[in-house]
Amino acid sequence: MTNNRFADIILPLAVKGRFTYRIPDNIAGNVRPGVMVTVQFGGRKLYSGIVCNIHDKTPGIKNIKSVINVIEGTPLINESQLKLWHWISEYYLCSEGEVMKAAIPSEISLNNFKPRLETFIKFSGKFTEDELNEILDKLKKAPKQQDILSAYIRLTGYKTGTEVFPVSKSSLLSESHSSAGILEALIDKGILTSVSQPVSRISETNGYREPIEQLSEAQTTAFRSIKSQLLEKDIVLLHGVTSSGKTEIYIHLIEEQLKKGKQVLYMLPEIALTTQIILRLKKHFGAVTGVYHSRFSDPEKVEIWKRIAENDPLNSYRLILGVRSSLFLPFSDLGLIIVDEEHDGSYKQHDPAPRYHARDSAIMLASMHKAKTILGSASPSVESYNNAVNGKYGLTGLKERFGLIKLPTIILANTREAYRKKLMVSHFTPELLQAMDDALGKEEQIILFQNRRGFSPYIECSECGWIPACIQCAVNLTYHKGIGKLVCHYCGYTTSMPSKCDNCHSTEMVTRGFGTEKIEDEIKIVFPAARVARMDQDTTRNKNSFNKLIRAFEDRWIDILIGTQMISKGLDFENLTVVGILNADNLLNYPDFRAHERSFQLMEQVSGRAGRRQKQGKVVIQTSDPENKIIRLVLRHDYVSMFRMQYEERMTFNYPPFCRMVKISIKHKDRSQLNHFSDILGRDLKEIFGKRVLGPESPVIAQVQLWYIKTILIKIERGKPPVKAKQLIIEAIVRLEKETGASSLKIAVDVDPY
Ligand code: ADP
Ligand code: ZN
Ligand code: ZN
Repeated sequence: MTNNRFADIILPLAVKGRFTYRIPDNIAGNVRPGVMVTVQFGGRKLYSGIVCNIHDKTPGIKNIKSVINVIEGTPLINESQLKLWHWISEYYLCSEGEVMKAAIPSEISLNNFKPRLETFIKFSGKFTEDELNEILDKLKKAPKQQDILSAYIRLTGYKTGTEVFPVSKSSLLSESHSSAGILEALIDKGILTSVSQPVSRISETNGYREPIEQLSEAQTTAFRSIKSQLLEKDIVLLHGVTSSGKTEIYIHLIEEQLKKGKQVLYMLPEIALTTQIILRLKKHFGAVTGVYHSRFSDPEKVEIWKRIAENDPLNSYRLILGVRSSLFLPFSDLGLIIVDEEHDGSYKQHDPAPRYHARDSAIMLASMHKAKTILGSASPSVESYNNAVNGKYGLTGLKERFGLIKLPTIILANTREAYRKKLMVSHFTPELLQAMDDALGKEEQIILFQNRRGFSPYIECSECGWIPACIQCAVNLTYHKGIGKLVCHYCGYTTSMPSKCDNCHSTEMVTRGFGTEKIEDEIKIVFPAARVARMDQDTTRNKNSFNKLIRAFEDRWIDILIGTQMISKGLDFENLTVVGILNADNLLNYPDFRAHERSFQLMEQVSGRAGRRQKQGKVVIQTSDPENKIIRLVLRHDYVSMFRMQYEERMTFNYPPFCRMVKISIKHKDRSQLNHFSDILGRDLKEIFGKRVLGPESPVIAQVQLWYIKTILIKIERGKPPVKAKQLIIEAIVRLEKETGASSLKIAVDVDPY
């Protein structure tokens, strides 16, 4: 007779729900919540799934399948991780399987984890003084071999007759300037032997640790205020101007948690930022500090995972610095989560599902561990600041920069006027050129920010106005001069630069607008003696490219660094005094209710890079609209007025934080079918939600990779739990999918889409 034990299992599928399997007797002892098992699903396909719970309620389906085997006997996923997956799937309307796919490295299996082996060399025995002298004597005729032995003794500090220590083969060879062949000869003679030892894939800094810095008076006040608010509240927003020393305050909070034996998660929105902060953390906290982001290889990710999950006092990570996916690491005892640059849009994942917001999910994760959350920013999101103002979060401010250095002066440069008066030198105003010239004269460094990569956003026929567009998307192709190609930034489609117009065959094709690549080209002409580099998606494809560029800028090998938003956030350079924002207009004119908030934040962030140490920095903002109200606020670094203005606007037009939004994207390869089906869904939703439904409408980019797109936006009132509304939305989608047979239609739901 078969037993009646069942396991509910999460499978990496987009289908909602957990799947129930029978547990065969022979593996029953190993099947526990959190373990990874193999099961069959659908036709013949095998999947690795995670067991969530075990019970004896016979499910109401026939032919229930059995678990095939247990891949990983020790639980891979702990209870709080399962809770987080569940919460994300409910809140963001996706399956737990989609969360699982985002959460675990694809090749994860801790038992099969293979450490990297490296060759080490050591003496074959504990030689006595006499023996050693005899060996060295014999080797007099082989000076190269002798070099290796001397190097070995130097590196290990070997004393005759004592324990023999291994050194890595590569360091021995480089120390002795020898080749592997000469080393082989010594091994053949039986003097040295080689051994294989497991080594970490993660490069480590040395164990030397410096005490943490003393806080300034203002920092101490802020630190105390945070701590006293945390007695009553779980979340505190630290609103500190750029370079006020927020990171230093985090370091003090981290130290307290580590002393208590708690784990800490420190989140950043962008990989580029981890480069500098990790050094600051390791300097104080040493080897318990780990980093996690998507640039690690799978085996590296598994090693990091293991070092968090296993409670090995010598080898465990207790402090993790990571980007949004670090939420999913196997924490067992978090005391604190820091979400730095909490306003940053990169915390939201848009595609594919799970479309989660890492800041909001971090707050959930912290509550599951009964831990505290610190949100930090120089220009908080309107939502977080609102939560702080209305008392839901604590609020602590830091109004001055560390060292009492003044916030940078901001100069507005009117491009419209400069063009009219013919004062522009390519895309640079006289104000920006003057500031750059002064800085270069003093050997100070400069950052130029332009939010577009490539050479020019589009090219155009000067005769008839024809613009080459992507064959799969409704977007113009961007010209990349370095590779001599036109590229679609939505799907990656690439084609050669046309020599003549497709429409009128004129050969007068001209580039329009400018991206970082063009700025780089032109800066080199304007300042031929300056050393110029560029940091954007195109120059940072390799794993170490961020490190290299940031190091080179720190070490002053670069005078002018040009970049996209990648260079706008959190970086701290000592000798950087001038920041140029080349085109503020295209930030402000984005068609989105958050455009003003975002452009304020971005300008404030980029400006914040200037003049962080000895002296006040200078920022030149180029715009054709110097009277713009957001730019006026940036000029005064006036966050609070920006908040009030946005708050009023959002109240008037009913946007978050006054409502919640759910965005539905509907895609079909046939435009008229798409219109038909999106109208049906729109009507259905309007019957339920009335005027709360906006659309269906065509988004700015109305076709991507041959799929036409329509969106429907639903605004749900605050104050009511959103669960019911979300349920109704899902039901409406299911009705539509039943009607269409679903296969030719793609529907995605995005909760809190902006
Ligand atoms: P933020 O995170 O607010 O932008 P940082 O923590 O990076 O500011 O501080 C700005 C600069 O001032 C950094 O170079 C940092 O090392 C320095 N700094 C901040 N606080 C202290 C302190 N208490 N002692 C010494 N240096 C500090
Ligand atoms: Zn033409
Ligand atoms: Zn495309």
